Amino acid sequence: MSKAYDYLVVGAGLFGATFAYFARKHGKKCLVIDKRAHAGGNIYCREENGINIHAYGAHIFHTNDKGIWDFVNRFVEFNRYTNSPVALHKGKLYNLPFNMNTFYQLWGVTTPEAAREKLEEQIREAGIGEPKNLEEQALKLVGRDIYETLIKGYTEKQWGRKATELPAFIIRRLPVRFTFDNNYFNDKYQGIPIGGYNKLTEGLLEGIELRLNCDFLADRSAFEDMADKIVYTGALDAFYDYRFGELEYRSLRFEHEWLHTGNYQGNAVVNYTEAEVPFTRIIEHKHFEFGTQPQTIITREYPATWSKGMEPYYPVNDEANSQRYKQYRALADGESRYIFGGRLAEYIYYDMHQVIGSAMARAKKEWNGEL
Ligand code: FAD
Ligand code: UDP
Repeated sequence: MSKAYDYLVVGAGLFGATFAYFARKHGKKCLVIDKRAHAGGNIYCREENGINIHAYGAHIFHTNDKGIWDFVNRFVEFNRYTNSPVALHKGKLYNLPFNMNTFYQLWGVTTPEAAREKLEEQIREAGIGEPKNLEEQALKLVGRDIYETLIKGYTEKQWGRKATELPAFIIRRLPVRFTFDNNYFNDKYQGIPIGGYNKLTEGLLEGIELRLNCDFLADRSAFEDMADKIVYTGALDAFYDYRFGELEYRSLRFEHEWLHTGNYQGNAVVNYTEAEVPFTRIIEHKHFEFGTQPQTIITREYPATWSKGMEPYYPVNDEANSQRYKQYRALADGESRYIFGGRLAEYIYYDMHQVIGSAMARAKKEWNGEL
């Protein structure tokens, strides 16, 4: 008997919405479900008093891939926002990422040559060969002063463990440069969707049936009967009922506060890098869109240990979890009716453009190289 839909997409986040968009384009009938009360996954924004609040943490779109940039620009225009967070450490502000401004603030050096000399001296003193963990990687990249002022405290509270117990790749996300350039990313294209991220989600899902507040795992067999193929973007360990044990995640608690001031911190993102402050950053949402409202909303981001029932934000890609994920992945690879994708199902610390890229690649494979 033929089923009601060609594809059931579990999860209306960026992976699910991008895949569904291409399925529709290929004339396929799609149903997208999400257990949350809204679409968009973690890019969802809630509008209040004219301010788009990034409900699941600050999201800045950036990519080097012109194909992906052109793709998102089909649905929404982007503003000129450039992420340039500042870090507050023991009452002093430092520019991020690590650049000439930071080197000047730390060491008083005013030329790239002097900065390079100082950095090389610090790296030499650290004496690291092949870095085995995040601490060693950071010391090898930027030396002890930067590590202790801007990395150690932030990283250890963000991940809830010692920097010596974390994989090195996490810190390689941050650029180091010898110009006075506070752009947090090296990518060619960057911005915030004008009118908020929901416009992007709505564009991707236009004309596609969407059902909210539906948990696939709560009624799996009924959902399986509805479609020939299923795209699953939830957590893979949950899909297999944790048979090899739980994959570890880091979670977050967001504390929002409305303030009767037009400008609280003068920047969208201020990182608090000392261990003693319990949150990692304060986001002032209006600055993502150059807002001029008379009031403001700020969000303090508190890292939290994940347990079942909490939102799994960051995969913890250490050795033990990677091995466990491989066991789940081996099962997933044998499921011919299923496609698994996205930050949760692939257990990868993906950015938005990478998730879109991954969904596009999967869609391309599905339709024999055509998008
Ligand atoms: P998700 O957005 O998590 O979507 C998965 C969806 O599946 C969710 O809506 C969930 O409710 C649903 N779901 C799960 N299980 C089920 C089920 N059983 N039944 C039904 N529905 C289910 N990226 C950037 O590029 N720039 C940034 O600045 C940036 N900042 C970030 C800040 C934070 C705090 C976090 C956590 C992430 C950030 N990211 C950023 C990454 C970005 O959020 C992700 O790459 C992207 O949103 C992932 O999309 P996804 O579809 O894979 O997953
Ligand atoms: N990080 C840090 N100090 C900072 C900002 C970031 O040590 O002020 C480290 C930290 O380990 C973090 C990683 O760099 O997890 C990646 O930072 P990014 O800002 O990319 O994190 P995200 O926005 O994905 O949470």
